[in-house]
Amino acid sequence: MGRLAGKRVLILGAGSVGEGIGNGRAMALLFAREGAQCACVDLRIEAAEETTALIAKEGGQALALSADVTKEEEVQRVVDATVAAFGRIDILVNNVGGSVPGGPEELTPEAWHAQFHHNLHYVHLSTRAVLPLMRAQGGGAIVNLSSVAALRHIGTDLMAYAASKSGVMALSRMIAVRYAPHGIRCNVVVPGLMHTPLVEARLAGQRTGGDVAAIVAKRNAQPAMGRMGDAWDVAYAALFLASDEAKYVTGAEIVVDGGLTLM
Ligand code: NAD
Repeated sequence: MGRLAGKRVLILGAGSVGEGIGNGRAMALLFAREGAQCACVDLRIEAAEETTALIAKEGGQALALSADVTKEEEVQRVVDATVAAFGRIDILVNNVGGSVPGGPEELTPEAWHAQFHHNLHYVHLSTRAVLPLMRAQGGGAIVNLSSVAALRHIGTDLMAYAASKSGVMALSRMIAVRYAPHGIRCNVVVPGLMHTPLVEARLAGQRTGGDVAAIVAKRNAQPAMGRMGDAWDVAYAALFLASDEAKYVTGAEIVVDGGLTLM
């Protein structure tokens, strides 16, 4: 029996760049290994299908769906599709997110709003769509992804990213308190510097001039543990929060950063 045996999961942002393992894909794979049925949603259907193919290869059950989760009707569509396929949603994971660098003078108002849509606004949409289901079922678990950028300055001006990820934490605490009487828990994973495919792709872009090795070495030196983490580190924290092992844990924030925020 797996740690999520019989659970039905909806993961938003369950693909990864290329065939790599980002946070979303790692959570989907790990949750499926622990006995969950996973609806894997991504903007890019091929990325979601890559995740479900990996799950199927391991003998797990998963459904690939495409949606732009910043759009209310698309969120509702994937929630409905998940319920149609699995009958219920026990666990919602809000993994979609990304960062645009810039402080107050560099960030345009448009970029600011885009970050809030991408990182925070959709968390409201998806939560709003699943809460009635979870209430009717008598419980559920929501796992949201924030970032250590919401806790402290991590060496790059990520103003809109940090503010929107702080919003994810505030919203999560609010949901935790309000819905605790309904058996619905809401918790947050707070990753630090993780070496995921999306980060690799971004580092290879124009923002760094393409000197990926130098930036990776610099980032590896920052956490107390002397290295960046990976998507599995995030996935194991999320697994605990999503599972019944965490049945008395709500409104919590698990920092997965190798000691970065202590430095
Ligand atoms: P990931 O590999 O999990 O990929 C995220 C997926 O979301 C991608 O496949 C992408 O196609 C999808 N996506 C993007 N916009 C979407 C939309 N509008 N609708 C549906 N799907 C969409 O990415 P990751 O780098 O592992 O990050 C995952 C989460 O972890 C994010 O919330 C991020 O902010 C957080 N995080 C990551 C790091 C890190 O270093 N990677 C650090 C701190 C926090």
